[in-house]
Amino acid sequence: MEPTQGLPEGAAIEDARVRALTTAAALEAQYGRLEPEDIIRVSIERFGAGQVAAVSSFGADSVVLLNMIAEVDRGTPVVFLDTGKHFGETIGYRDQIVADLGLTDLRIITPDEASLANGDPDGTLHGRSTDACCAIRKVEPMARAVAPYAAWFTGRKRFQADSRAVLPVFEAVTSRVRINPLASWSTSDLAGYMRRHDLRENPLVAYGYLSIGCFPCTQPVQPGEDARAGRWAGQAKTECGIHLSGLDQSLDSSGL
Ligand code: SF4
Repeated sequence: MEPTQGLPEGAAIEDARVRALTTAAALEAQYGRLEPEDIIRVSIERFGAGQVAAVSSFGADSVVLLNMIAEVDRGTPVVFLDTGKHFGETIGYRDQIVADLGLTDLRIITPDEASLANGDPDGTLHGRSTDACCAIRKVEPMARAVAPYAAWFTGRKRFQADSRAVLPVFEAVTSRVRINPLASWSTSDLAGYMRRHDLRENPLVAYGYLSIGCFPCTQPVQPGEDARAGRWAGQAKTECGIHLSGLDQSLDSSGL
């Protein structure tokens, strides 16, 4: 889905955006109600091996999507954003899961060194502005990470947050397509799948971390609380921006 050759740059970008919207809508209509495994299979067929990646935080239930992808194509690129602020347990879990599932193309993306030196030289920016910290450590690296692909998978679910309540399976992001195969799944669907496939759990789950991000911005949740209540607790912030318009802007502003 490259910009159309021969058009002025702005018109080509707009043309590519329109084509991505059309593609996402058509895929949603045709495949949006399939089972997640089938959504993954048709997406890899449709976009081509190597043209669709998976983005994973290796968090509380990430292994479900990764196992489904591994059953279709273990060589699918799996992108992990190493913000420099992950729990050590998550890094260890990432490597265990890659080995368990036989994933062959883990891609670790880190923040831009100059941006860190300018914006967060002592690593404490999260204490002053979580939005600014996420912009440096998550949003810009994410834009770089997905830029080479026509499409990418995420493990987002509708039940996770009000902001995800109407999440489609296929959605356009600038000139690319983001795919959420598990959009309609519930916590019991996820737990049942993990049991049936005997999948290893992130060790932090046993300590009450039901949604896992960077350690300065993640807390365990209390029984009965929403799984994401421990993310940026006490702040209005509920998303880091990699799934919101910040990613579109970052892709646009950097010409990606
Ligand atoms: Fe920074 Fe917290 Fe965002 Fe991680 S989640 S990038 S530590 S503000």
